[in-house]
Amino acid sequence: MDPVTGYRAWPKAELHLHLEGSVEPETMQELDPGLSVEAVRAMYRFHGFQGFIQAYKSVVERLRTPQDYARITRALLRRLAAETVQYAEITLSAGVVLWKGQEFAPVYTAVRQAAAEFSIEVHWILDAVRHFGVEHAMRIAELAAERVNDGVVAFGIGGDEERGPAAWFGEVYRFAKGGGLGLTAHAGETVGPESVWAALEIGAERIGHGIRAVEDPALLRHLRDRRIPLEVCITSNVATGAVESLDAHPVRRLYDAGVPITLNTDDPAIFATTLSGEYELAARQFGFSEAELRGIAQNAFRYGFR
Ligand SMILES: [Zn+2]
Repeated sequence: MDPVTGYRAWPKAELHLHLEGSVEPETMQELDPGLSVEAVRAMYRFHGFQGFIQAYKSVVERLRTPQDYARITRALLRRLAAETVQYAEITLSAGVVLWKGQEFAPVYTAVRQAAAEFSIEVHWILDAVRHFGVEHAMRIAELAAERVNDGVVAFGIGGDEERGPAAWFGEVYRFAKGGGLGLTAHAGETVGPESVWAALEIGAERIGHGIRAVEDPALLRHLRDRRIPLEVCITSNVATGAVESLDAHPVRRLYDAGVPITLNTDDPAIFATTLSGEYELAARQFGFSEAELRGIAQNAFRYGFR
C-alpha cells in the first residue's frame, strides 16, 4: 500500500504520544533562534536510552513559557491533522514542568487552549517522573485529578523503570483511580516482565510499551484474557535500544499471542517517525495485513480513556 494515499488517509487515533517529544527541529529553532536545524538534528541522533533522555532534556529546557508549550502543541496538531489523526491522548510531562520550577496551571491552560483551535479530539495524560519518587508522583496525580473534567483523562508514570519501580506507587494509583482518572504506566520497556506485572498490580489499565511481556507466557495470557492493551512504539524501541534491532522487535509475537496492541509514535520528532509510518513499518517489516492493521487502528479508538 502506498503510505501517502494509504495509512495517512486512514482515520487514526494515537494513545502514546509525548508532547515534549513532538518538537520538530524547525520548531526547536523557533524556540531557540541560536540553534540551527542541523544542530537539532544532531541532538536527535543519539545512542541508547540515556542518549534519548539527553535529547529529551535538551527540548524541555527550551520550553520556558506557557506560550512555548502552546506553540509546540499547535505544531504537533497541525502534523496530526495532516495525517488524519482524529483522536489523540497527548502525554504532558507535568512532572518535568514542576522539576523546572514552572507553575503548572498556566502551562496546562496554554496547551488546552492551543489544542482547542483544532478539530482533532484531544485529551491529556499527566505523567510523573517515577524516579523522582512517591511524593512527586502524588503531586502530579493531584494536578490530574483537579482537571478530570477539564481535559485530563489519565495519569501515568514514565522515566527510569529501574530507579522508580511501580510498586512504590500503589497509593498514588489508588488516589488517581478514585479521582476518576484512567491509569497507564510505562513498563516492560527497559526492564523485564516483572515490571509489567508490578504496573498491573498497582492498577494500570494500559501499558506503555510492555514489549518485554513477550518473555513471560503467563503474562501474555493475562494481558490477552483481561484485554489489557500495550501501547507499542516500534521505532522508539529500536532508537532507544530497548530492542537489539528492528528484526528483534516482538510486535508480531505479541499480536499473535492475542494481546491487544495499538501502534504509536512515542516521541515522533526525536525518533523521526509518524503514526502512518509506524503502520507502514508494521506492514513492511512484520507482515501485518491490511485487515490486521485496520483492527489495530480500531483498537486505538476502543482503548482510549475518554
Ligand atoms: Zn513514552
